Amino acid sequence: MRTIIEPFRIKSVEPLKFTTRAERETILQKAFYNVFAIPSEDVLIDLLTDSGTGAMSAQQWAGIMQGDESYAGAKSFFRFQEVVQHITGFPYVIPTHQGRAAERILFTIAGGKGKVIPSNTHFDTTRANIELTGAEAVDLLCAEGKQPALIADFKGNMDVEALEALIERVGPDRIPLCMLTVTNNSGGGQPVSMANIRAVKAVLERYGIPLFLDACRFAENAYFIKCREPGYQDKSILEIAREMFSYADGCTMSAKKDGLSNTGGFLAFRDPQWAQQAREVLIVTEGFPTYGGLAGRDLEAVAQGLLEVLDEHYLKYRVRSVAYLGEKLLAAGIPIVQPPGGHAIYIDARSLVPHIPPEQFPGQAVVCAFYLEGGIRTVEIGSLMFGKTDAAGNHVAPPMELVRLAIPRRVYTQSHIDYVIEVAALVAQQREQLRGFRILEQPRFLRHFTAKLAPV
Ligand SMILES: *Cc1c(COP(=O)(O)O)cnc(C)c1O
Repeated sequence: MRTIIEPFRIKSVEPLKFTTRAERETILQKAFYNVFAIPSEDVLIDLLTDSGTGAMSAQQWAGIMQGDESYAGAKSFFRFQEVVQHITGFPYVIPTHQGRAAERILFTIAGGKGKVIPSNTHFDTTRANIELTGAEAVDLLCAEGKQPALIADFKGNMDVEALEALIERVGPDRIPLCMLTVTNNSGGGQPVSMANIRAVKAVLERYGIPLFLDACRFAENAYFIKCREPGYQDKSILEIAREMFSYADGCTMSAKKDGLSNTGGFLAFRDPQWAQQAREVLIVTEGFPTYGGLAGRDLEAVAQGLLEVLDEHYLKYRVRSVAYLGEKLLAAGIPIVQPPGGHAIYIDARSLVPHIPPEQFPGQAVVCAFYLEGGIRTVEIGSLMFGKTDAAGNHVAPPMELVRLAIPRRVYTQSHIDYVIEVAALVAQQREQLRGFRILEQPRFLRHFTAKLAPV
């Protein structure tokens, strides 16, 4: 069959609240044109993030009821551990309440002043946790990954030559580990090839540097390998995932992504000494090693989610539904980062509304238009999120002005997505009338979450 369907039916529904355009005008005004300040009830289709926003299966909900809430040695932990070991092959498994907790523990052990941690692209919490220890986070993305309009199979790959050059320059002693983010979230959800993982490992091995995967979207990455990399067409997602992990010495994971859960994460190691050190930190800051800041019921939901995410029908629907949105937006004349990644579509706002200068936040103009016209919540990834002001008071724009439409897992149907496409076409028609914004008030850090804005 050519038609790819949602590989599930709906057992439990959550009604959506409809608002009028006039109501949304007031809501936007009250939120000072920052969509983070809009109550979720007033959002019709929420594409703010794919993190922790997925729908759980009946099996996961059943697991919630079976959660063993014992402080130590809970049955739910042993199930969780078994599933993580089964998929990753790492013997030492440490549960954490989110991905960033795993990162904080890892870099408490491995980071510190003078240390350098390379990655294809560090996710922002990873970078923050590295920098918090005084270490330096270095992004070594391949050249194709830096060209938004270029269509290539593995734009999340690391630049292996740049990695070798970095090791030669700073010396292997200063590099406690190297990370690879699969898929590369900050680079648009672009996958990393098995060949690249292997090549990175080969370089690291020569210098005795461990490799860690930021495995948040390991299953989506494995599916892209299956579809795009020669030699993997006949392998199962589990086999491909296992091979990916086989080159690594450990991983960090946010179960809010490919764990198909609303919370949770883990840290896993091949080496018992690393694991021992991590457990010591875990006990002080997260909890006892058999729950690590999670309830027993969460451990059950994550364990089940990790098995479900390996289902090829699910991954086919997942990747196809994101690509479908991307294709239709392109057809409606909306420029996007190419090709569509695994979890989101990124609109190139600089091309869509070229008359709005970066210092007036072109991405935010598009974000507000999506909300106003259709009640759709998206997020700006551009000058509002990453822009800086230099010593002379001039705006320094990031390389791209993007708007991200992240797709929650198993939540919206194709007609929801068709509605998003219709709203997008309406926004594209009005592109010349869209106006920029100025900042009224902003905090010192991470201003996009709480800044107050006004139309110019
Ligand atoms: C979400 C994410 C994290 C952080 O995980 P949280 O569960 O949000 O703390 C780290 N790395 C990547 C690639 C992510 O997408």
